[in-house]
Amino acid sequence: MTKNTTITFESLNLIQPIQKALSSEGYTHPTPIQAQAIPLILEKRDLFGIAQTGTGKTAAFTIPILQMLASHTHAEKGKKPVKCLILTPTRELASQIGESIANYGKNLKSNHTVIFGGVNQFSQVNAIRAGVDILIATPGRLLDLMNQRIVSLKDVQYLVLDEADRMLDMGFINDVKKIVATLPQKRQTLLFSATMPADILKLASTILYKPATVEVTPTSSTVEKIQQTLYYVEKNDKKKLLNNILKDKEIQTALVFSRTKHGADKIVKELIKSNITAQAIHGDKSQNARESALRNFKSGQTRVLVATDIAARGIDIDKLAHVINYDIPNIPETYVHRIGRTGRAGESGKAYSFCETEEIPYLMDILKLIKIEIPVVTDHPYAMTVVAYTKPKADAKKAKPTGNKFAGIRNGGNKSGGKSSGARKNEDGNMSGKRKFKR
Ligand code: AMP
Repeated sequence: MTKNTTITFESLNLIQPIQKALSSEGYTHPTPIQAQAIPLILEKRDLFGIAQTGTGKTAAFTIPILQMLASHTHAEKGKKPVKCLILTPTRELASQIGESIANYGKNLKSNHTVIFGGVNQFSQVNAIRAGVDILIATPGRLLDLMNQRIVSLKDVQYLVLDEADRMLDMGFINDVKKIVATLPQKRQTLLFSATMPADILKLASTILYKPATVEVTPTSSTVEKIQQTLYYVEKNDKKKLLNNILKDKEIQTALVFSRTKHGADKIVKELIKSNITAQAIHGDKSQNARESALRNFKSGQTRVLVATDIAARGIDIDKLAHVINYDIPNIPETYVHRIGRTGRAGESGKAYSFCETEEIPYLMDILKLIKIEIPVVTDHPYAMTVVAYTKPKADAKKAKPTGNKFAGIRNGGNKSGGKSSGARKNEDGNMSGKRKFKR
């Protein structure tokens, strides 16, 4: 994440309690999205922000909202109504936004609570009943509590839709529309999305009023910062290759991606057998298990966290230096999201990808998207025979990292010769041939 060295938080007219909180977080300068978005939000403009996680977008919307809420000086009688609603697709993202608000707002009076599904609603209901200024929620649970008449949104003045494209992908868009329909017309709305598919543009045009648009560094430049390497390996050798790579003690922690929940559990079992501490996070794990796995990983108690794409989306781990793609995702954008977990906040990052014969078509799609070549590591103990093959047509630029020239493979033992095996199971257990996905 690049920081803007000419603009300071002070020059953005942030109030002292926020400036103090930011310096205790170690933030010296706003990131580009913060430098652009904060003044616009403070001017009470609606905003369409095109940015992905890792750019500092959470602070870009939470800081000005905290500041505006702090200016509501009049004392409130009775229960505080919800004044700001933040909708986000996953529980992990919701929790992280909650943590950010706690950090940036620690010298302010506003309070917040986080609600999401998959856990008992009891403590969430109690927190809402006690009165909250800022409510961070996943759409399903919120709608549920609204239907039970536990939450009222009639006093909401600020609405944030975070990762709107992801909410669309996860099938939440109708819930989002239902929720938005109950909000006051007179409000300030901020919509953040990493991509701009037609459905998001349509949604933006219906819920934003004369929005300002801010856009930060496109995906490919994030990708270029990360040192990527590719290992061609037989499916059955992947676990040995993973062990081999993890012998490098420089890899203190690593986030390993698995496409399926079952696969993630299997990887964890294998690692534990080799005395490597590992835990999995995926949709079948309870909220508590996911949170404790994430906590152990962040504290370094667990060296390897194995995650599925949905569970890992938006996970923010400071100083995560290594991402390992145990398999190649069948949606090219997923590759970008996965490796984007590393190389954050200006840190360097490394991404290793294991590619078996059947995954080559997926790899081709990724290379077309990122338009850089990924150096291949050929001198590993489980390397498959490498032969040249036709590169994708895209005008591929040279990747920054050094290494062997990009090369294709033919696996002597496997007759599929790199052809797609067709449909594969994703995290939800659905058969999902790549071609079924809309881009
Ligand atoms: P986000 O894009 O909101 O997920 O933020 C990515 C990471 O950047 C988080 O770990 C933030 O704590 C960190 N971050 C956000 N703003 C700044 C800043 N101005 N300076 C340094 N780090 C930041």
